[in-house]
Amino acid sequence: MISRSHRPSFLRRTLAVAAALIVLALTILAVSPALHARLHAATPDHAGEQGCVVSLFAQGIEPLLAAAVLIAAPVIHALVAPRPVREIFLVAPRFLRLPERGPPGS
Ligand SMILES: [Zn+2]
Repeated sequence: MISRSHRPSFLRRTLAVAAALIVLALTILAVSPALHARLHAATPDHAGEQGCVVSLFAQGIEPLLAAAVLIAAPVIHALVAPRPVREIFLVAPRFLRLPERGPPGS
């Protein structure tokens, strides 16, 4: 019996969870000034708000970055996305005779 898994690989799932957690953390830090200040208190050698990823995330989308993402996305998709399956997986029936119709009438 041939079985193929359509489930994404462990690496892909791990990267997806990590990306989602990063976006969630940036969102929480962007909307909570207290947590943002606590983050800077934990890193005293921080350069300031100019290079802060939380501030950049809170500012929104940069047009140049959005254009680069729109250009790069199809290329990355072509490289990462799985190829479509061109095989037909036939499975043997579990019964000897194919059910053609209902039981015989009287
Ligand atoms: Zn900051």
